[in-house]
Amino acid sequence: MATYKQPCVHCGAFIERDSRLCPSCGSRSPFGYHCPTCQREIEKGQPVCSGCGRSLMVVCPTCGQPTFADERCEKCGAGLMIHCSNARCGELQFFENIKCTACGKKIKKEVGK
Ligand SMILES: [Zn+2]
Ligand SMILES: [Zn+2]
Ligand SMILES: [Zn+2]
Ligand SMILES: [Zn+2]
Repeated sequence: MATYKQPCVHCGAFIERDSRLCPSCGSRSPFGYHCPTCQREIEKGQPVCSGCGRSLMVVCPTCGQPTFADERCEKCGAGLMIHCSNARCGELQFFENIKCTACGKKIKKEVGK
């Protein structure tokens, strides 16, 4: 049984190519980076998304340092994803997203978490 495996860009674990989630580090985009707002593929280090024009450098809400718009802060490792506030959805969303990319509803930010 030949299954294609590819390394996760975040942790390097070999995982099946059709996986949507890395079982090793839990990343939801194991084979590349995606714009957190429009989901377009982006390169690490790219300053601005070519799809929606958002800046791909953000300020980490935990340590206050600039970091690439990824699932985790490059500086302190704090997660940059929040769960959609819509109870029926609950998808992980980038903390700066105003609208959920999964259900399209507005995300209410929980303060102090
Ligand atoms: Zn991984
Ligand atoms: Zn974008
Ligand atoms: Zn940080
Ligand atoms: Zn949602």
